[in-house]
Amino acid sequence: MSGDRVTTGMDGVVVRVVADDGTVGIGESGTVGVTFDVQHASSQLAGVKVLASAVLGVDPRSPQSAHRCMTAAMTGHPYAKSPIDIAVWDLAARAAGVPLWKLLGGDGAEATPLYRPVQGATPAEAVAKAHERLNQDYRRLQVKVGDDPIVDAQRVLAVRAAVGDEIVIFADANCGFSLSSARRFVRELGAGGAGIFLEQPCATLTDCAHLRDSWSGPMVMDECITSLAALLEAHRLGVADGVTVKLTRVGGITPAVTIRDVAVQLGIGVTVEDASGCNLADTTFAHMNASTPARLRTHTVDFDSWVTITHVDGPSSRDGAFLRPQADLPGLGLTLREDMFGDPFVDVSA
Ligand SMILES: [Mg+2]
Repeated sequence: MSGDRVTTGMDGVVVRVVADDGTVGIGESGTVGVTFDVQHASSQLAGVKVLASAVLGVDPRSPQSAHRCMTAAMTGHPYAKSPIDIAVWDLAARAAGVPLWKLLGGDGAEATPLYRPVQGATPAEAVAKAHERLNQDYRRLQVKVGDDPIVDAQRVLAVRAAVGDEIVIFADANCGFSLSSARRFVRELGAGGAGIFLEQPCATLTDCAHLRDSWSGPMVMDECITSLAALLEAHRLGVADGVTVKLTRVGGITPAVTIRDVAVQLGIGVTVEDASGCNLADTTFAHMNASTPARLRTHTVDFDSWVTITHVDGPSSRDGAFLRPQADLPGLGLTLREDMFGDPFVDVSA
């Protein structure tokens, strides 16, 4: 990641909720190490153990009710609430006999364009990786920046020159720039800013707002979007031409829907995704993005292409350069591959 941070592997949490009539819902959440967000996998396990008892007995056909029970049982720790919340939404959609995108208010099983990060320490390495991504059908690239502002700008300019103006490029600093480094970076890009979207250049909304003195191009907030209040503040400061809503960061589908719907009302482009996961996670935000109005649906990721594990049976949500939910199966349309799992870390029942 930006800023010399390295993650080589990660634990994920998978939750299965079972209703009285035997209907099952499943949800996945991963914390992608401890250097990305204020999250820790061990804390997530501990939190899920507490929250599992809190939602026991709630009517799962109302995911919002289940989320209120979790909020009453524990302040904060959204990353512990997220896998349970997602599993309850899956169950609610299965109980209703509809795909999740329909329960979330979508018009259809609509596709969301995929982006793929471009790594590489030097301009030549980044260009080689960009070509590899284009050969894999991706048409939206995310170049990681946030280290040396001069080299970062050289890499972005090299990728832009190599792929042409048709390819969408996001430069994502993952909060890695100081304000002065961010100013240097955008100055090095030159007039027109290489036509990029600048994603989360600095760690705070205040510094991102100060950067507006130097950058008039599109700016997208990711790490700062932790809540609806954060979204409204980002909008007030003029730094949210787009936002990324990560399910694990905000506490699952229930709060993500609220943040997404307000962003849509404000005319802000929205990406719904997460920090990590497998096909189960991909499919969850395939459904979420399909229920976002197309004019403000930005793009998303396909973690199934990043990882070596397949732990669900059912259709892949990857469709070439797009992520698309299945059209008709109830809920997320996936079942857990039981052989991929050991004993549950917690198992509570009435
Ligand atoms: Mg980002």
